Amino acid sequence: MTTVKCQGCGAVIQTSDPNLPGYAPESALSREDIICKRCFRLKHYNEVQDVPYQDDEFLEMLNQISDSRGLVVQIVDIFDFNGSFIPGMKRLTGQNPVLLVGNKMDVLPNSVNPRKVKQWLRSAAKDQGLIVEDVFLISAQRGEGIEALSQAIEKHRNEHDVYVVGTTNVGKSTFINKLIQQTSGVKDAITTSYFPGTTLGFIDIPLDERTSLYDTPGVIHRHQMAHYVSDQDLKTITPRKEVKPKVYQLNEGQTLYFGGLARLDFDSGERSSFICYLSNELDIHRTKLENADELYRNHLGGLLSPPDEETMKSLPELKAQTFRLPEGKTDIVFSGLGWATVPEGNITVTAHVPAGVKVSLRQSLI
Ligand code: GDP
Repeated sequence: MTTVKCQGCGAVIQTSDPNLPGYAPESALSREDIICKRCFRLKHYNEVQDVPYQDDEFLEMLNQISDSRGLVVQIVDIFDFNGSFIPGMKRLTGQNPVLLVGNKMDVLPNSVNPRKVKQWLRSAAKDQGLIVEDVFLISAQRGEGIEALSQAIEKHRNEHDVYVVGTTNVGKSTFINKLIQQTSGVKDAITTSYFPGTTLGFIDIPLDERTSLYDTPGVIHRHQMAHYVSDQDLKTITPRKEVKPKVYQLNEGQTLYFGGLARLDFDSGERSSFICYLSNELDIHRTKLENADELYRNHLGGLLSPPDEETMKSLPELKAQTFRLPEGKTDIVFSGLGWATVPEGNITVTAHVPAGVKVSLRQSLI
């Protein structure tokens, strides 16, 4: 079989993975000048699509950032730091200063102390090798914190360009829209979309005669739960309002299911509270550990949902990971879903999540 190349970008045309370069639907193969879906959208709708982190073109673009002088503004979703932090940021940003922005502040419970969140974001970035100039918390949707951030951008950019980077779904378009709206009064300059993989716009917003703010394509990050669920399920698991904690008192040998997307077993330890911070619409089921597998086999997609039918077609199998919690208040974080706080720590738990999704521990945010 001869390889066919995209007439736009030169990538080899493939029909199997829409998230990889050169994707074109089967129906496009009969055309004379085949272009990939990405180039098609760019040509016809003036849209730039999100790209996987491994995409050469994207890495090259980020490399250009490290080769030039400018301020990098990295946006993360506070509710999903692990899923939304771009790996290898240090290498990609070079010597350029970085401002770290935690978006979706509005979904965190009121009891969260913003100072603690900032500290945690700063140290979580440092764990990934990235030293940041400053950390900001915003709600792009409500326009909160934008003013202070925009002043900091002005200060730190030192009359250079600004690059806004982020993985898909962190609210990058919403943020840039708000920024433009606040500075120029134009509403909805970029079209936002609810779903990852569809962020529009690679835009250049002039800051003055010589410099610009650049919106870069959203990076698709495989740790994001969002990539494993249907659009409908994504709506259910993404908190849209302040998260109301749900408290469970558990004995060892009990299990919590978060819908059917994740499961948390209390393996051993003294009776303990589990305070769950998840989307208010995601149901939690408590069961005995000994019944947990059977419940999953018989009720996945029914009692244990999401997943819905569409998600179930492609949802990876649950993988188990056991943790010994240190003494003290600890959060067990399920990337893209939320977390459970264990006030005393000092117990052993096993977390089950779809293979590829990350589970981690952190000192409690609350
Ligand atoms: P992008 O892919 O990073 O450009 O993200 P979008 O701007 O398209 O936003 C992704 C989703 O997050 C959309 O459903 C937005 O409505 C939502 N979103 C964006 N900003 C916020 C915010 O500050 N709070 C909340 N709760 N949701 C937000």
